[in-house]
Formats: sequence, structure tokens, C-alpha cells
Amino acid sequence: MSRAVLSLGSNLGDRLAYLRVAVDGLRDVLVAVSSVYETAPWGVTDQPDFLNAVCIVDDPARDEWAWLELAQSLERAAERVREQRWGPRTLDVDVVTVDDVRSADERLTLPHPGTPHRATVLIPWLEIDPDATVPGAGRADALLAALPDAAKSDVTPRRDLPL
Ligand code: AMP
Repeated sequence: MSRAVLSLGSNLGDRLAYLRVAVDGLRDVLVAVSSVYETAPWGVTDQPDFLNAVCIVDDPARDEWAWLELAQSLERAAERVREQRWGPRTLDVDVVTVDDVRSADERLTLPHPGTPHRATVLIPWLEIDPDATVPGAGRADALLAALPDAAKSDVTPRRDLPL
């Protein structure tokens, strides 16, 4: 078995369309997809809000490198959509976890290093897997509980935007 958690994010152009490109590209391996969440950007705040979602995918034939390759091909697919129809793009697909794999390789760091601190990943992930665990860091619900309230209250479900 190879089960991966992928996080999707977009904050430019037709954000929902980019997330849909990614989910459509995952349909053959999709186990679960979260709702869409909207989040104000951190740090550089004069940019559009992000739409985020998390997918759980499963394919016994894929190892962690194959999941990274798939994630990057989804980003390229969104870019092709932009070239045909829309203006600015961004679709970011991160590999959050792959089974219990831990890797410090800069080409594929697992779990994704931002995960324990990112409400934008933890909240959608817990929606579709309440027992989610970050290898080496513990349960996702405990990690989320440890984050400042401001980080959590900023992540708003957008159930009016179905994937
Ligand atoms: P970014 O577009 O800023 O998310 O960075 C993409 C780069 O991060 C690529 O060169 C990937 O090889 C590398 N990378 C390292 N770990 C991961 C991961 N867990 N998921 C996605 N990309 C990763």
C-alpha cells in the first residue's frame, strides 16, 4: 500500500478551477477530498486569499517519488489551462505525507516540513481523517490544538465552492 496526503493551494486567477484541475487529475487514486477552505495570506498580506484543500490518495504502485511526480504534473496541467484561457496562475501541490516515510532530501522532504504548523493543511486533513498522524510529529489534532487561535480562526470553510 502507498497512501499519500496531498495539499492543494491556489491564490491567483480562477482559484477554484485550479483546484478542480488537480482533483480531476487524481480521480483514479482518490480516497477522500476535503472541503475547500479560504485563508488570508500570512507574511506578504497584499495578495489574494488562498483556497486550500487536502486529498488522500492511494495507489500500491506508487512510491513517494511517484507521488511527487504526480503532484508536479498537476501543477503543470494547471499551467496549461492558464495558457489557454486565464491570466495569472498558481497551483501549488505539496506532498504532505506518504505512509510513514521520513525523508530529509531537499527534493522531497517528508513529512512536508510546514505541516505541523499549518492550519491550512491540518484543518482540511482532519476533516477527512480525524485520526491523521504526522510521522515523527504526532497526531494532527494535537498539533492543531497547539497552534495560536489566530492561525485557526483564519481558515474558513467554503462549502459553497464544491470540488
Ligand atoms: P514549492 O513550489 O515552493 O512548493 O517548491 C517545490 C520544490 O520543493 C520542488 O523542487 C520539490 O522537489 C521540493 N519539495 C521538497 N519536498 C517536497 C514535498 N514534500 N512536496 C512537494 N515538493 C517538495
